[in-house]
Amino acid sequence: MASADRIAYFNGRFVPEREVLVPFRDRGFKYGDAVFDTTRTFGHRIFKLAEHVDRLYRSLRYLRIDPDMAPARMMEITEEVLRRNLPLLEPDDDYWVTQRVSRGLDDAHKDTWNQHGPTVIVECVPLPLAERASLYRDGIRVITPSVRRTPPQSLSPRVKTHNYLNMVAANLEVRSQDPDAWAILLDTAGNLAEGLGSNVFLVSGGVLLTPREQTVLSGISRETVIDLAREAGITVVEQDLDLYDAYNADEAFLTSTSLCICPIATVNGARIGTAVPGPLTRQLSEAYCRFVDFDFVGQYLKRLG
Ligand code: PMP
Repeated sequence: MASADRIAYFNGRFVPEREVLVPFRDRGFKYGDAVFDTTRTFGHRIFKLAEHVDRLYRSLRYLRIDPDMAPARMMEITEEVLRRNLPLLEPDDDYWVTQRVSRGLDDAHKDTWNQHGPTVIVECVPLPLAERASLYRDGIRVITPSVRRTPPQSLSPRVKTHNYLNMVAANLEVRSQDPDAWAILLDTAGNLAEGLGSNVFLVSGGVLLTPREQTVLSGISRETVIDLAREAGITVVEQDLDLYDAYNADEAFLTSTSLCICPIATVNGARIGTAVPGPLTRQLSEAYCRFVDFDFVGQYLKRLG
């Protein structure tokens, strides 16, 4: 696919991606003073757009950024960006679809670029299906780095901002030890928090466990899994979980928009459970596939060739 052909929304216009040129004095670039949200498509159909836009607006309110448009308009624009880009997508591929809003320029620079409001971008990019395919066969190797997740007292982890440096630093540490491992950060008390773009779940004695929302981003796929588990009569508990809990878990998995549910094989080298995926992880993955009416596991595994 020619990425040069993709169209994005940029401050009121639909333009080729290469024409999305953000001024270097934009506060999103200078300070990470911006928020974003990302959903995906399943078989070219967008997933829980309203829930993602709702979370975007909660992030905006937290940072007191006025996007200068109602959520309904943000949804319309997102659907239009997707509509314009779907013809570029291979039948078996799917998109990440993202809204980005920065506070824009400081007053002193607004006239230079003739931009007075926030910077608003809506864009999409194909999911990295091939790169991640083996994770569904082998499970993810998780490492907990020494870098701790930013505590809620400093900046709420529930906000999805453009500043991912906390998690970038964590990932650098992990990838230097094992280039294929994924970071799960601990919080400052030593409890499991979350990954660069994912939430973590453990299974213990048939009960599904996950860290409390206060200390992590409230993942839309996290919420989806909790709902599906409860519908299936599985007990779900949100609580502090540490490495003792992880090493003793029967199963563990990550959730995210792109991964949906992906099994964890090891944590810091310790094998979790006996099968990848474990029985409850498999049951929930199947429920997720039915819910989105799409076999996301098959979509990944197909890329193994
Ligand atoms: N935690 C963080 C820090 C994230 O960036 C993401 C990705 N948005 C998640 C968790 C998972 O959230 P979701 O299920 O909505 O993709």
